[in-house]
Amino acid sequence: MTAFVYRCTDCRKEFTRDAVRYLCPDCGARYRPGTPLTGVLEVVFDEDGLRRVDRARPDWSLFSAVEPRFFPPLVVGRTPLVPATRLGQSLGVPKLFVKNDGQNPSGSLKDRASFLIVAEAQRLGEQRVVCASTGNAASALAAVCASAGVQALIFVPEKAPRAKLVQMVLSGARVVPVKGTYDDAFKLSLEFTAKRGGLNRNTAYHPLTIEGKKTVSLEIAEQLGLRAPDAVFVSAGDGVILAGVHKGFVDLLRAGLIDHLPRLFAVQAEKSDAIHRYVQTGVYSDAPDPATVADSISVSCPSNAHWARRAIVETKGATVTVSDAEILDAQATLAARSGVFTEPAGAAAFAGLAKWQAGANALPASAEVVVLATGHGLKDIDAPLKRVTIPPPIEPSLDGVPVS
Ligand SMILES: *Cc1c(COP(=O)(O)O)cnc(C)c1O
Ligand SMILES: [Zn+2]
Repeated sequence: MTAFVYRCTDCRKEFTRDAVRYLCPDCGARYRPGTPLTGVLEVVFDEDGLRRVDRARPDWSLFSAVEPRFFPPLVVGRTPLVPATRLGQSLGVPKLFVKNDGQNPSGSLKDRASFLIVAEAQRLGEQRVVCASTGNAASALAAVCASAGVQALIFVPEKAPRAKLVQMVLSGARVVPVKGTYDDAFKLSLEFTAKRGGLNRNTAYHPLTIEGKKTVSLEIAEQLGLRAPDAVFVSAGDGVILAGVHKGFVDLLRAGLIDHLPRLFAVQAEKSDAIHRYVQTGVYSDAPDPATVADSISVSCPSNAHWARRAIVETKGATVTVSDAEILDAQATLAARSGVFTEPAGAAAFAGLAKWQAGANALPASAEVVVLATGHGLKDIDAPLKRVTIPPPIEPSLDGVPVS
């Protein structure tokens, strides 16, 4: 571990790790449920410390904000970066890679954040970790808590996909479905930890969720031979994966391991588009009815909207919105042409790339592009099932086999 401080992303005041837990005490006090978080803290490592990293054999624990001795036993991350050259060719970017984070233990990138938060809980001696989630953060927390022997308490909106609910219940979490939206569950979980204790894992509310998610960028750079790609496409709900991806590349740049930041592209569903509109207009407003087939990115009020916008502007990236039909098409194309089966929210990133490449500012053929497949396809089969035709059975004789 490298020495670090927490710095407020609004007022830039700095705090030692044990002086604060969640938001900046000043800017966070202005936060009202139902608006994006204010006073989100950023981990700022000592730059000389990061520069100790050995290019030939990088020790990523130097980039961790929790000491490895507190890490849970479950192995998280180290997911493959899959070359998708043929698929990329069809979009004019043959140097296309899919980072398949569906191969995490609970099947989504959320394992990375849960891993670091449970490590932090062990450092603090907290016996319980609490979160609100549309599903994946909760099933990730449940799995990591199970491996560490820590209790997970989870508030989910009642409409979460069944596979995710099964995962969290089987992992032994206390699951509390809430009548209402994700935003309602978020508020309730904050109230719980404020009044009854435990460590709150809510996305961006706890700064180490961003640090956990950044490990995906460390891996991408390492898998490309310690280089930054030209562009990364990320689906965005709360904008915390996007912030994590950004933070990872910022740390790599400060450590001298890469020489530029990739352009970051945030892809949102058409009706869950608060970050998109915020970037376009500079003015924030909620997405009033964020319904989309991609449940993991259905968010009315993105908790990390401010950092997400900054990440896009700073890296000269962009935002793209996609329809449910485009998302389901992308899911099928990705599965059929790269072998990666990702849930609708994961496929949204690829749908965004396809849309971007059809537009006026398409990336050139030389561009090295990474698409994040954030969750496993088996997380939610109800959505694609509507468009899949399972062939009827035949008699067990060659005569009935429909191919010669
Ligand atoms: C959570 C999640 C996202 C979106 O991440 P945010 O940090 O909310 O923007 C995308 N895809 C999957 C599969 C997720 O679980
Ligand atoms: Zn502040």
